[in-house]
Amino acid sequence: MKKINQIEPSLGIEEQNELFSVIESGWFTEAKKTREFEKLFAEFTNSKYAIAVTSGTAALYLALKAVGIGSGDEVIVPDLTFVASPNSIEMTGATPIIVDIERDSLNLDIKKIQKLVTKRTKAIMPVDFNGRSTNMKILKEFAKKNNLLLIEDACHAIGSFHNNGSHMGTISNVGIFSFSTPKIITTGQGGMIVTNNKKIHDQCLSLKDFGRDINKKQNMLKAFQHDTIGYNFKFTEFQAAVGIAQIKKLKHRIIQKKKMFNLYRENLSKTDQIDFIETDLNKITPWMVDIIIKTKQLRKKIINHLKENNIETRIFYPSIHTLKPYKKSNNTFPISYDISSKGLWLPSSISLTDEQILHISKLISNLLN
Ligand SMILES: *Cc1c(COP(=O)(O)O)cnc(C)c1O
Repeated sequence: MKKINQIEPSLGIEEQNELFSVIESGWFTEAKKTREFEKLFAEFTNSKYAIAVTSGTAALYLALKAVGIGSGDEVIVPDLTFVASPNSIEMTGATPIIVDIERDSLNLDIKKIQKLVTKRTKAIMPVDFNGRSTNMKILKEFAKKNNLLLIEDACHAIGSFHNNGSHMGTISNVGIFSFSTPKIITTGQGGMIVTNNKKIHDQCLSLKDFGRDINKKQNMLKAFQHDTIGYNFKFTEFQAAVGIAQIKKLKHRIIQKKKMFNLYRENLSKTDQIDFIETDLNKITPWMVDIIIKTKQLRKKIINHLKENNIETRIFYPSIHTLKPYKKSNNTFPISYDISSKGLWLPSSISLTDEQILHISKLISNLLN
């Protein structure tokens, strides 16, 4: 039987046509198409500003720089996330302060943050793990009380909304998204910064374009007067072209991803050896289907059994505190350490059929019975 990948991107004739029009236009670095993609993304998330950059990691870094985070500062980040979250903090010269997660949302545990706040703490970086957010009302109150900024890593959360209807990433000071190939929509590589704050927006535009003053860019005499140190994190029209075609498919993909999660859940939640994190599909779009397996040994057994049947899965990220650059004792992060060793992502490509999901579910159920 043909191999079932854990996740694969899905592009078609729409992307081809968009790309072709870029080649014909002669404009390759960000221009009209990039502005259109940013506009579509801002509209979808209902944000005032959306700024496209080279990757989600670059977006996280730029957002931190734009709000003035740097050497000597501390930023609180959850222990269960992709390594890009703490790395982006390191890149600015600030120190990531790792905190354990809560079992029900897999997001950072607000109760455990309190004692980590010092006078160096400048920001918190919540990560919306698989589209589920922590209680943002409590987190925002906490941030306000302690004078901290919220830089939200919403890379898993395209198509996920809070109770009040606002898109994830949009009620923090800055929200970050990624369009790398496993994400719900992709531009090959790419990231987006959203904010409602004009100052942060202007700062991001300047930083992504060699530190140019965004108001003087059009003036050839002043375009090379760099008042701050900036970088080159500009988007390309190729990425934007693919992004425009992809974002037009987003509504349909959100429905698909929810259906997929629901079908797996219906078929696998009967066994007490597998847990699903509570997920309200009216609001949340899981980018991949995640399950928590009773033990690490059983996870291994399931992975191997599926592999023998040519089906690929992906284990959860390792806890950040177990990685060499961030090494700390396991005792401080019991929940994250536990979840990381038992979490598994099942095949979740947009092209996956119901039959395939039933086949995979049956293989797992039969193994457990
Ligand atoms: C994908 C992802 C990133 C990084 O995005 P890139 O576009 O790959 O740089 C950061 N954080 C999380 C949680 C992600 O899933």
